[in-house]
Amino acid sequence: MYDCIVAGAGIAGAATARILAEKGKKILVIERRSHIGGNCYDRPDEYGILIHEYGPHIFHTGDEGVRQFLSRFTDWYDFGHEVVAKVGDQLIPVPFNLNTLHMVYDKEKADRLEQKLIEAYGEGSRVPIMQLRENEDADVREIADYVYKNVFLYYTMKQWGQKPEEISPEVTGRVPVVISYDNRYFKDVYQGVPLHGFTPMFEKMLDHENIEVWLNTDCADVLAFCDGKIYFQNEEFSGNLVYTGALDELFDCRYGRLPYRSLDFRFEHLDQDSFQGHSVVNYTVSEDFTRITEFKFLTGQKDAEGTTIVREYPFAYSGGEGEIPYYAILDPENEKLYGRYRALTAGYPNFYLLGRLAEYKYYNIDAMCRRAMDLAEQL
Ligand code: FAD
Ligand code: UDP
Repeated sequence: MYDCIVAGAGIAGAATARILAEKGKKILVIERRSHIGGNCYDRPDEYGILIHEYGPHIFHTGDEGVRQFLSRFTDWYDFGHEVVAKVGDQLIPVPFNLNTLHMVYDKEKADRLEQKLIEAYGEGSRVPIMQLRENEDADVREIADYVYKNVFLYYTMKQWGQKPEEISPEVTGRVPVVISYDNRYFKDVYQGVPLHGFTPMFEKMLDHENIEVWLNTDCADVLAFCDGKIYFQNEEFSGNLVYTGALDELFDCRYGRLPYRSLDFRFEHLDQDSFQGHSVVNYTVSEDFTRITEFKFLTGQKDAEGTTIVREYPFAYSGGEGEIPYYAILDPENEKLYGRYRALTAGYPNFYLLGRLAEYKYYNIDAMCRRAMDLAEQL
């Protein structure tokens, strides 16, 4: 009856389903949550303010193909996303850039340090903090020390339970020191959010005569794996299966759980026009939470009364009831464990792993969409 079953209705699953459906394939999307969109899901809260249920999501990309594909399902509210960090009484731009440099040091010193940075790395370059710390010039290292201590150390300890030097450089490298006066958080040409929200974009993407969506359904309840064969509702299934959930769960965590970091999102509605006047404020030297997002500044919503904010409290995922695995913890040992689980799928020729969970990787929305587009073409 179905040519392909897709487990998970996040961007990985939804984009795959849509492309295959347009090629005439009959697709079943199985989603354990009560809604589509995965972690990009947004909805109006009880005060009518559009919130991102699983933390702030900003779409950003330099990939024309991805932007074009998603633009078929939404118009955009484009803006250059900016973040500030609260350091003492100051709100400083993050990533640390030349504007930040001039806020932190007096003019004479900042001018001198700016020249040194430009000479060392070139105007417009983006230097990972761990690389900056290795510079031999004492002045450049002074900047690196400032950024390390005031932007990375405490925030990273909260987010990962580890120091910046203990985690994968890929992670801290996402927020480099920027040798320019550009305050934007991302460098991509396209930045923004779907004009009417992510969820309507997903609704349109999945609205196709060849796509059926089952919500509130865990694929463990309808799929089984045995001796190289996939069973769907107890009958052998010979189509393709694209799985976007956590791989250890699929095999009952038989080698132990894959480690993840999770987040506790605590929302608060305030009866005031504005709380912080910024979409995102990172708390890099204080507090137990990592950041506060004020949604109306992220989504550009104008008709909201009051304001809704969310604080993010990180913790180690344990697989307990209601916990959600958000971030794979990229280190060689965990990747080895992931490899053992992946090996279990080798005997299933029509079984594809796709997504931030299923691939145990740190993907942004656009990279995930690109992978989905490529896999769908391949299938
Ligand atoms: P998900 O969105 O997690 O979707 C997977 C879906 O599969 C879920 O709906 C899940 O319920 C379902 N599922 C899992 N197991 C099963 C099962 N057994 N049966 C049925 N269904 C199942 N990216 C950006 O580009 N910009 C941002 O600003 C950004 N901010 C982020 C902020 C946070 C706090 C987090 C955690 C991530 C952020 N990301 C951001 C990354 C973005 O969320 C991911 O790139 C994207 O959601 C990955 O899509 P996915 O489909 O792989 O996974
Ligand atoms: N980071 C930090 N301080 C900041 C911003 C980021 O220490 O103000 C570090 C932290 O380790 C974080 C990583 O850089 O996990 C990547 O940041 P990003 O904003 O990309 O994380 P995400 O939005 O994916 O949670």
